[in-house]
Amino acid sequence: MTPQRILVVGAGHVGLYTALRLSRKLKAREAEVIVVDPQPHMTYQPFLPEAAAGSIAPRHAVVPLRRELRRCTILAGEVTRVEHERRVATVQPIVGPSREVPYDHIVLVPGSVSRTLPIPGLRENAVGFKTLGEAIYLRNKVLEQLDVAATTTDPATRARALTFVFIGGGYAGIEALAEMEDMARDALRYYPELRADEMHWVLVEATQRILPEVDPDMGAYTVQQLLKRNLDIRLGTRLESCVDGVVRLSDGDSFAADTIVWTAGVKAHPVLERTDLPRDGKGRLTCMATLQVTGPGERTVEGAWSAGDCAAVPDLTKEPGALCGPSAQHAVRQAVRLADNLAAVIRGQAPIPYRHKYAGSVASLGLHKGVAQVYGIKLRGLPAWFMHRSYHVSRIPSWNRRIRVVIDWTLALFLRREVVALGELHSPRQSFTEVTPPVTR
Ligand SMILES: Cc1cc2nc3c(=O)[nH]c(=O)nc-3n(C[C@H](O)[C@H](O)[C@H](O)COP(=O)(O)OP(=O)(O)OC[C@H]3O[C@@H](n4cnc5c(N)ncnc54)[C@H](O)[C@@H]3O)c2cc1C
Repeated sequence: MTPQRILVVGAGHVGLYTALRLSRKLKAREAEVIVVDPQPHMTYQPFLPEAAAGSIAPRHAVVPLRRELRRCTILAGEVTRVEHERRVATVQPIVGPSREVPYDHIVLVPGSVSRTLPIPGLRENAVGFKTLGEAIYLRNKVLEQLDVAATTTDPATRARALTFVFIGGGYAGIEALAEMEDMARDALRYYPELRADEMHWVLVEATQRILPEVDPDMGAYTVQQLLKRNLDIRLGTRLESCVDGVVRLSDGDSFAADTIVWTAGVKAHPVLERTDLPRDGKGRLTCMATLQVTGPGERTVEGAWSAGDCAAVPDLTKEPGALCGPSAQHAVRQAVRLADNLAAVIRGQAPIPYRHKYAGSVASLGLHKGVAQVYGIKLRGLPAWFMHRSYHVSRIPSWNRRIRVVIDWTLALFLRREVVALGELHSPRQSFTEVTPPVTR
């Protein structure tokens, strides 16, 4: 038997787990697994808020691909086109010309990107919160703003530096907002020049509720907790513009802010537009519950598989037509089913449909604070926060990562977390270029 070539596009939650399982299940004579991702690591996104808040070292919130996927071939690059008809993907390596990679099966799982809107000033002034780079940038930015405010003699500059705006009240936005505010409040102990009530943390949410993943009473509890912390929660409000950092809201209010974070949802990765595979109206690959891509009339597209944020997968635990939501919870479980199904198909066996009843959500609202609703059980405050940490540490791939994360938490418990801005990281060559004269001939 000639080994089947399996091309995994994207080594995120789905890609990493799928590749790992396939490489363990299938013998070298059955298949070779090639993994393409521009990043050398999988990012465990649920830990981004804690990495931004300094409770976890940034490198411990990621899983190195070459360390975990030793039996796979890793290609550092981006897939820019998929011609499934020809069974060929075009890969743009991180250096050099692009090349075509033929395959027998493709696992197309590039995830999602921030879903943005054409709002004036957004592109120039806001940052997303989906990548490790964005999370660490935001951490440094928030801490840097405390230095700006503590140093300036201009009241307007001080107010602007201390205004932090988050747009979007899903779990990513709420966790990012709550963790950042908690960290900044903690940092204020070292800033005698600043008072906590001078900070203006704003949440802008277009609908009338936050955390749609949990019941309305848990969303309302979260709002109450944030209001107690003096956060400015604007429900039923939209961002209209933020040109030059002047935030204009649909409720008529307007103020200046140096920090604007966009966390208003995700959409399927745009690379899917450059494939000949069937997609739904939201740009997601249409899939069957077996995680095989499916065309019109539920016709299976042989050799094409998908799951996670970029796939429309039926949720068999709900009413017909319901789809699995974009979450790590579904992504990692779908990855296991996908790998088992792909291995089964290669061995001439039948694939099994994916079925998982969404267990609920856990969200951290800063140190020792949280909200959780799992299998109908509702937890608030410290127990919820503890559940959040235990759940995610059990989910991040590999014991190596788990041990590192627990050590980070323990160190922060006894030594307090570090609250220093390392903004220099974002322009590392500046000091060198300043002292190196240009060569003129
Ligand atoms: C801040 C934050 C907090 C979250 N917290 C939770 C939580 O508490 N619970 C929960 O269930 N979910 C949570 N999520 C959602 C969860 O992380 C996602 O649903 C999950 O990551 C989806 O997995 P995926 O494999 O589809 O995509 P991803 O994990 O995003 O992986 C996609 C991969 O594809 C790669 N890629 C992209 N384009 C290409 C290309 N052209 N070629 C090759 N590779 C490519 C990317 O580099 C990436 O590695 C959170 C998300 C965020 C942003």
